[in-house]
Amino acid sequence: MSLLVVGSVALDTVETPFGKRDEMLGGSAVYCALAASHFADVKLVGVVGNDFPYDAIVLLQERNIDLSGLETKPGKTFRWSGVYSDDMNERKTLYTALNVFEEFDPTIPDDARDTEYVFLGNISPALQRNVLEQMSGPQFVAMDTMNFWIDSAKTDLLDVLSKVHAVIINDSEARQLSGSTNLVKAARIIQQIGCPTVLIKKGEHGCFQRCGEECFVAPAYPLEAVLDPTGAGDTFAGGFMGHLARAGRSDPWTLREAVVSGSVMASFVVERFGVDNLLQLTDAAIQQRYDEFRALVSF
Ligand code: AMP
Repeated sequence: MSLLVVGSVALDTVETPFGKRDEMLGGSAVYCALAASHFADVKLVGVVGNDFPYDAIVLLQERNIDLSGLETKPGKTFRWSGVYSDDMNERKTLYTALNVFEEFDPTIPDDARDTEYVFLGNISPALQRNVLEQMSGPQFVAMDTMNFWIDSAKTDLLDVLSKVHAVIINDSEARQLSGSTNLVKAARIIQQIGCPTVLIKKGEHGCFQRCGEECFVAPAYPLEAVLDPTGAGDTFAGGFMGHLARAGRSDPWTLREAVVSGSVMASFVVERFGVDNLLQLTDAAIQQRYDEFRALVSF
């Protein structure tokens, strides 16, 4: 089955202790779509300016990503820049230039409205709801959000949360959204808003999932070398949603497996700068790391 991904398409400038890259292909929808493209057919909905490099379009098309929902508007593409601290656990945003993304008003192409799996990247809750209203009964929808929307658009956010099947957020967002510092409780409080499955990402400490009353934890894959953590969360979401779309089901056991696929893809993306690793990964490498994950948590 297919996955529809809606979110930002960006040109990122990133500096880590291991180097600096200017204007590389990035954005939440790009990381998610590239990761998911290793599992299922992917359709990307986003906006770029007329300065968006043709090479980047080719890279996405080479991964068979359907770009009929990628609009080109007069103006500049969204740009973002960040710099990481020595231990990579802290990131400072140097600038965010929304450019054409500021007026993003996602239109789902007619032939994509019946897509079964949907990932709503980090855009305003009003736009996320607008996307949902254009879809005809998807099987499984997951959403992302961020502290900015929790602060500025809480009512809309709660409404969208009550309409999706899963939310994928990080630990600080889960605490802020729920008002609870305890993540197990935070997940339950978010479920009570009306979202049955809650995934809380904890960076290098892995991921916690609460589905109904059932809890599942997956560690982050132990890596000695992390070059660039940018996009790890969106890549996790891509592996997770891609896994579900490939399986064509979302029962509690498949959701657990999908968390591991998400963790596998996130572990690959941080080993190189930007999306580089997502472009050259093989199915065999993904399967091997998935199997290593099973061994890692077996006792
Ligand atoms: P992450 O490391 O998971 O926070 O994702 C970083 C990616 O998110 C980068 O590729 C950025 O281009 C993109 N990004 C940064 N800020 C925003 C924003 N305000 N809205 C949408 N995407 C963003």
